[in-house]
Amino acid sequence: MALETSRITVVPAHRTVEGGGFVVHRPFPVPELSYVDPFLLIDEMGPIDYGPGEAIGAPDHPHRGFETVTYVIAGAMEHEDSHGHRGTIRDGDVQWMTAGAGVIHSEMPAADLVANGGRMHGFQIWVNLPRARKMTPPRYQEFAGDQLPIVAGDGVWVRVIAGAVDGRRSPIETTVPTTLLHVKLAPGAGRSFAIAAGSNAIVHTIAGSGMVEATPLRIHEVALIASAPASLRLTAGGEPLEVLLLAGTPLHEPVARYGPFVMSTREEIVQAVDDLKRGRFGEIARLG
Ligand code: MN
Repeated sequence: MALETSRITVVPAHRTVEGGGFVVHRPFPVPELSYVDPFLLIDEMGPIDYGPGEAIGAPDHPHRGFETVTYVIAGAMEHEDSHGHRGTIRDGDVQWMTAGAGVIHSEMPAADLVANGGRMHGFQIWVNLPRARKMTPPRYQEFAGDQLPIVAGDGVWVRVIAGAVDGRRSPIETTVPTTLLHVKLAPGAGRSFAIAAGSNAIVHTIAGSGMVEATPLRIHEVALIASAPASLRLTAGGEPLEVLLLAGTPLHEPVARYGPFVMSTREEIVQAVDDLKRGRFGEIARLG
């Protein structure tokens, strides 16, 4: 089914400097676009080249009511949380954390990246949980890049981070039906991707330029496709095109958000703040 160009909206991925000097490119949340159901946030982390001792991250902080997804293209991130999960993810690896009822976690550059410096580039994505699942027990999934399917040929390379391409399915279990693909196309190459009809799709340009259906897309531009058709075609122009393709089933539920908490009502946000104050999110157990 062909897609009408009018249904694709192109927005910028705003270059934003977070507290401590962490550089991200963020299509949302921004004042003019708070979320794209079921996705609550997309941060392209960097790319940034750190010198020795410069790399920074996010020390202990809480989350409740959604899932955080971290995908590393270059660099290394260390995760620890109050439910005893730990892991270091590097180039091509993914971490899918269901914060659910609440965790405290830290997301820091790995010790070798801090010591030696180097490139940090990746994505953090927040996926909302249905209202009925927001207080689900926290869960942590982590897969190395070589455990994720790669579909390649005819100038197209795809890592299947979530969902499936040509029947090759990622081992990641998502709560909301979600497709997450890292796609690279050689100049002039094109490919159509099957996604669940009626999902909201997002194409975040990492490098190069090309087209989503008939809509041009350049670096740091993001295409939003509401109620997407069952297939979406990406085409590289005269240069290679590298994108992250996301698609998810919209929840159509109210969103109440405050910093690291995303719930359905203001009362649930007040409860989250109170529970954090009372220590109900636990703490990260650290040795030594
Ligand atoms: Mn976090």
